[in-house]
Amino acid sequence: MENQNPLEYCKKCALEITGNYCVGCGNAKELLRIDGRYIAKEISGVLNFDKGILYTIRELLIRPGAAVRSYMAEDRSRLVKPVIFIIISSLIYSVLRGFLHFEDGYFKYDESNFTTVTVIFKWLQNNYGYGNLIMGVFIAFWTKLLFKKYGYNFYEILILLCYVMGIGMIILAVFGIIQGLTDLKALDYGGVLFIVYSCWAIGRFFDKKRVANYFKALFSYLLGIITFAISVLLIGYLIDLVIK
Ligand SMILES: [Zn+2]
Repeated sequence: MENQNPLEYCKKCALEITGNYCVGCGNAKELLRIDGRYIAKEISGVLNFDKGILYTIRELLIRPGAAVRSYMAEDRSRLVKPVIFIIISSLIYSVLRGFLHFEDGYFKYDESNFTTVTVIFKWLQNNYGYGNLIMGVFIAFWTKLLFKKYGYNFYEILILLCYVMGIGMIILAVFGIIQGLTDLKALDYGGVLFIVYSCWAIGRFFDKKRVANYFKALFSYLLGIITFAISVLLIGYLIDLVIK
């Protein structure tokens, strides 16, 4: 008997494959080799705002609520992954801050005497990305509490905050550049815009028609920042108490 096609298996999940794509995981049977056309497509995808970091920033600036809801329920391939997004945008901000030497009030603390709290704040200042992630956990807790009836779980809200705070860091970066290049105290306005954007984006995510949502977002945000700061102080003092 002449041969039937030998069985083929998905390279990713090892399921038997019959068409060009795996029914289990959607992976293509054969990946095309990387060539010039592949690179050109990848670059034009980014520059055309089809996907990637520029697409992510644009969508989150124009329609944050719809963009994040779509990421959760429909398509996870177009926006940059949320945790990566907040780490990258925080990195962009801190690189610019180191380069242009602008002073900010982000994670700021009186450094006149040396305590564990000062050490923690110093660490946060040098690691904006992780600092934002940790602060995001606190804000997510309050957001979850205040927007309980919408039924989102804690992790979904954390994802929302990664995107929102990521854009916040981009806003700060832009105002930081202005402050670095001129003598204007631009970062103060940047900070205000950060908060305004966050409330607007969170409010729209849940229900853009309910005005109360924007105020609830502001409360969640402020409560998150306050409880975050209190926790840092408390942990710092406790450590000082133990080691002294
Ligand atoms: Zn597969």
